[in-house]
Amino acid sequence: MFKNLINGEWVEGPRVSRNINPSDTRDVVGEYAQADVAQTRDAIAAARAAFGKWSLSTPQQRFDILDAAGNEVLARRAELGDLLAREEGKTLPEAIGEVVRAGNIFKFFAGEALRVGGETIPSVRPGVGVEVTREPIGVVGLITPWNFPIAIPTWKLAPALAFGNTVVLKPADLVPGSAWALADILKRAGLPDGVLNLVMGRGSEVGAELLENRGVDAISFTGSVGTGQRVAAAAVARGAKFQLEMGGKNPFVVLDDADLDVAVAAAVNSGFFSTGQRCTASSRLIVTEGIHDRFIDAVVAKMKTLKVDDARKAGTDIGPVVDERQLAQDLEYIAIAKAEGATLAAGGEALPTNSAGAPGFYLTPALFTETAASMRINQEEVFGPVVSVIRAKDYDEALALANDTPFGLATGIATTSLKHATHFKRHAQAGMVMVNLPTAGVDYHVPFGGRKSSSYGPREQGRYAAEFYTTVKTAYTQA
Ligand code: NAD
Repeated sequence: MFKNLINGEWVEGPRVSRNINPSDTRDVVGEYAQADVAQTRDAIAAARAAFGKWSLSTPQQRFDILDAAGNEVLARRAELGDLLAREEGKTLPEAIGEVVRAGNIFKFFAGEALRVGGETIPSVRPGVGVEVTREPIGVVGLITPWNFPIAIPTWKLAPALAFGNTVVLKPADLVPGSAWALADILKRAGLPDGVLNLVMGRGSEVGAELLENRGVDAISFTGSVGTGQRVAAAAVARGAKFQLEMGGKNPFVVLDDADLDVAVAAAVNSGFFSTGQRCTASSRLIVTEGIHDRFIDAVVAKMKTLKVDDARKAGTDIGPVVDERQLAQDLEYIAIAKAEGATLAAGGEALPTNSAGAPGFYLTPALFTETAASMRINQEEVFGPVVSVIRAKDYDEALALANDTPFGLATGIATTSLKHATHFKRHAQAGMVMVNLPTAGVDYHVPFGGRKSSSYGPREQGRYAAEFYTTVKTAYTQA
């Protein structure tokens, strides 16, 4: 059994959860301890007790631990990728790619531990000096979703630790395995007891305690809008610092002048890879009249070549949906789109088994055409391999449709026009804009995040992560 990590000790929880492989539901990845409120309080107390010393640790100590963790993650990419694909259902190449990303993030933030700089600014008063420095915030609660089981915990953990904070990590219930592996790696890399505490368990218990407990100074959350709103309300009520990364309804615009192959490859990747379960997936394709029919034909032809199968089987393009509940949600939105009058151009069929006959949550990628912007399929996040197409008469209408959403995470355009690409980059209402690239798939050393209902607070990743994981102090000295 895989246990929780509290104050440097592996401890059993009052309950156990079985981690199920969505590619073959008979396969149990492992049994994982589930913490309750009392154990979560122990973890928070351990993090508080460890903060004083860790906050004054040397940058060299933090560099060494994070760099060693990054090296181990990279060295074990095949094994950790296999675990990730087995518990979450993305394909093995996608899972290994995610593990490599996590390894690189650790190494990037190892360097950032050395680079936390400050500023010296002349005072407006004679004989006075002003220094601006960055200090850790304290105990940080990290709450993560199931769709990036190693990358998201890492992109929160690595900066939190690099800047001298202590951490209580609560991973998503569906994918505790990758987070457990991270805790094990960091402990063996030399992290002192209590600096990182892992509490696997339910959102309504473990997560809720992290939100309510005054021992947690800051909360970094990634997940759905509904849960994010709870995080915000609880954090505001007790004055905790917080940041939220939430859902998306990301558009991908295809203009008449696009290179058809580039547009099709980007749209198929963004819409369907990782089973459409990426917050940066494009679920709305906004296509201008002159290319519309050719583009749809090419996307449908490409979709017919995609193999939906066991995530760990060589040659699989699309793995299963993560669990039964998510599959039911995907199918419900497919039914809603049909009822609203959208045309199902391809896919949308649940498959009870894979090619080897193993039971799993398989769904063929679905494409809806002739949809209206007002339909629910174009307004609400499905979070599955379900994409809809909206016709636009020209660039201006396409841009307006792209921005017609409460969300603003990622957006993309396929065009060979410098004028339209430049205009789109400036006028797209999203945190990330892609030109002739899929909306999903980002670098690990630059800021990540969105606008509008998709995000709240400072950006994650890259140098910008310091905005959340440190607090600024301004010191005045009279010589
Ligand atoms: P979710 O909101 O159901 O769960 C996220 C986390 O919150 C989990 O660890 C869960 O246990 C916890 N939680 C649930 N209830 C809680 C409560 N009452 N108090 C505290 N914590 C609680 O989201 P999910 O289904 O795991 O993830 C899918 C969502 O995540 C999608 O909406 C997706 O767009 C979003 N997402 C966003 C980004 C981004 O960076 N913007 C990245 C990945 C996923």
